[in-house]
Amino acid sequence: MAKGRIVVKEMYCKGCELCTSVCPQDLIHMALDQLTPKGYHPAELVDPDGECTGCAICAVICPDSAITVYRMVPEDKVKTTTA
Ligand code: SF4
Ligand code: SF4
Repeated sequence: MAKGRIVVKEMYCKGCELCTSVCPQDLIHMALDQLTPKGYHPAELVDPDGECTGCAICAVICPDSAITVYRMVPEDKVKTTTA
C-alpha cells in the first residue's frame, strides 16, 4: 500500500475538524496544546506507525486547502533520465 504523510498549514487551518472525521486510518487529531495565529487549534497528523496511505481524502475535504499530501514513491518506480 502507498505510504504518505500530510502537512497542515496552520496559517490556513480554522479548526473545523472536517479532516479528522474522514481519515480512514483515524490519523488526524486536533492539537489542543497549540494555537494558530488566528487562535484555532490546528489539525495534526498523529501517525507513529506510518499508516498514512496518502489517499488525500483529508486534503479534498478541507475547505481551506490547508493540507498538503506527500506520497512516497517506491524505489523501483522512480524514473531517472540521462542526458
Ligand atoms: S492522506 Fe488519507 S490516510 Fe493520510 S492523513 Fe489524509 S485521509 Fe488519512
Ligand atoms: S479540514 Fe482543514 S481547516 Fe478544517 S481542521 Fe482540517 S486542516 Fe483545519
